[in-house]
Amino acid sequence: MGVQRSRRTAAVAIVAALTAAGAGALGPAQAAQPAQGAAAAQPGLYTASVRPAGRPPHTAEPPPKQPTATGYGGAVATVDADATAAGLRVLRRGGTAVDAAVAAAAALGVSEPFSAGIGGGGFFVHYDAKSGEVSTLDGRESAPASATDQLFIEDGTPLTFPEARVSGLSVGTPGTLATWAEALDRWGRFDLTRNLRPAIELAEDGFVVDETFRTQVAANAAIFADFPATAELYLPGGAPPAVGTVLPNPDLADTYRQIARHGIDVFYEGPIGAEIAATVQDPPVRDGATRNVRPGDMTTDDLAAYEVIERDPTVVEYRGLQVYGMAPPSSGGSTVGEALNILENYDLGAMDEAQALHHYLDATALAFADRNRYVGDPDVIDVPLDELLSQEFADERACLLDPEAAAPKPVAPGVPDGDYGDGCATAPEPAAVADEGSTTHLTTADRWGNVLAYTLTIEQTGGSGITVPGRGFLLNNELTDFNFVPTQGGAPDPNLPGPDKRPRSSMAPTIVLDDDGEPLLALGSPGGATIIGTVLQTLVNRVDLGMDLPAAVAAPRLFQPNNVNTSAEPAIADGPLGAILRDVYRHTLVRTAEIGAATGIEFLGKHRLQAVAEPVRRGGGSAGVVFPQRWPR
Ligand code: GLU
Repeated sequence: MGVQRSRRTAAVAIVAALTAAGAGALGPAQAAQPAQGAAAAQPGLYTASVRPAGRPPHTAEPPPKQPTATGYGGAVATVDADATAAGLRVLRRGGTAVDAAVAAAAALGVSEPFSAGIGGGGFFVHYDAKSGEVSTLDGRESAPASATDQLFIEDGTPLTFPEARVSGLSVGTPGTLATWAEALDRWGRFDLTRNLRPAIELAEDGFVVDETFRTQVAANAAIFADFPATAELYLPGGAPPAVGTVLPNPDLADTYRQIARHGIDVFYEGPIGAEIAATVQDPPVRDGATRNVRPGDMTTDDLAAYEVIERDPTVVEYRGLQVYGMAPPSSGGSTVGEALNILENYDLGAMDEAQALHHYLDATALAFADRNRYVGDPDVIDVPLDELLSQEFADERACLLDPEAAAPKPVAPGVPDGDYGDGCATAPEPAAVADEGSTTHLTTADRWGNVLAYTLTIEQTGGSGITVPGRGFLLNNELTDFNFVPTQGGAPDPNLPGPDKRPRSSMAPTIVLDDDGEPLLALGSPGGATIIGTVLQTLVNRVDLGMDLPAAVAAPRLFQPNNVNTSAEPAIADGPLGAILRDVYRHTLVRTAEIGAATGIEFLGKHRLQAVAEPVRRGGGSAGVVFPQRWPR
């Protein structure tokens, strides 16, 4: 199919909507698939008078959350109870998985503003139950048309990461809102106006600050304090809000309302866009700040030219399952896919846990070497994607995986040239590359069997730290996902900045179909480059090591991105498994408090769904289903 570009406002086609009660009464067998692209619009704006009774405003009690929920009629798993509630509300009223995802993502813009929001971008992987097709949308931020490979070089020297991050230079043209509009146009039953309602209410009423949120503000307090618009939102009274504080965001409520009323052009071609460009070009720093906040070049033309791109998904077969993921500019699909293809050479299920994890680690390292050498924006560089995902290439790479001992790191990249099997071909050795950041992943499913895996981000926790004044959202620092300087020795670096280029991502929203082509699992995670390890290890846990999805998500994690050191969560690093990985397999483990924050959904058969979020990491996530018991009769 190739790629398709677009930035359409969701069509305002009015179709007969199921009433909430009527829709709820349909069983799975009777439930009709909604017409794709038909947005069941509710003309007019949300007003207080039509707001249904819900969570009372200004409560200081955090909403309850549970990490696992099993039931019927649709499911939502996110990191946040308010976002999951928003998604479930839309599902209960007859929305699709995509409607629920947009409602949940918009709510995350309020209550998880340091990881997600309309100032950022993301990747959307969708399974359509009617056609059986998996489609993906690339809503990644793009560099301004003026960008060059010198974007982060000043007087011949690369900026430090903090200098680059907290600047206008790092801000990519946001893709999140265009992604929502495009997805709703294709697969929604409701329009943006209706799907933004729960988030507008949340922004008006406020959400309850929890420990994770407070800690994230505290870690960013010095940066936030330098931008009055950010400090006003997140440093009330000049300090991080206490746990239990109810934090509204009236500016964001108003921004969402304007988008609901006028469509996304108010953002991409209207006054909000003009304010974004002005903020990037002249970041509004407080008087007396000593930080050198460099301006960026994003223009209103960059915003007007932004396009969501439909790309073919990546797909590999693993143990008879079809694993679909996101193609470049994300490296998620290709790296997870290549590592799975390498692991296909080994019977992990027959190994003990330490040996299976050793294989997982070195397969990840090998796939990372190839990611670092070959993956970038496919509209700018040639990515040998078919070769990277071919089983033959993976089989050749597997010859560097020693079942008895860790390969010395970094391992060299392979040669994806279509000519395999002749020994262990490797390209010249690269420098290791690692990156990290903060993001959020949500997974939804609906009564019709449509499924959605959506990872979105503003890059670092708190993005660039710069809020568009009066608009209530932070701008991303996604362009720091480019390499500032060449990293591949004499070989070309696929991920240097360039005009209109999209920085390489590690986001890995993933959908797994069974051998009948029916959905089995959907999952994803935040965590920068560690996302790839989290998704991969969760799949290995579930598919090979006999864990159910809640156990696969909860299990302690390891990550090996082709570095000398392997990150290991304390439960592994401090325990017997860590000792075996160190002493027997010779991995260098570095204790890491937490890796990732996954969410997923498993299809248990007979229309039964299991939504799964983290039980502990990042303060625990929130899973919910439409009907916990059974379809109502
Ligand atoms: N910017 C990162 C990426 O696109 C995501 C950051 C994170 O997940 O923490 O890979």
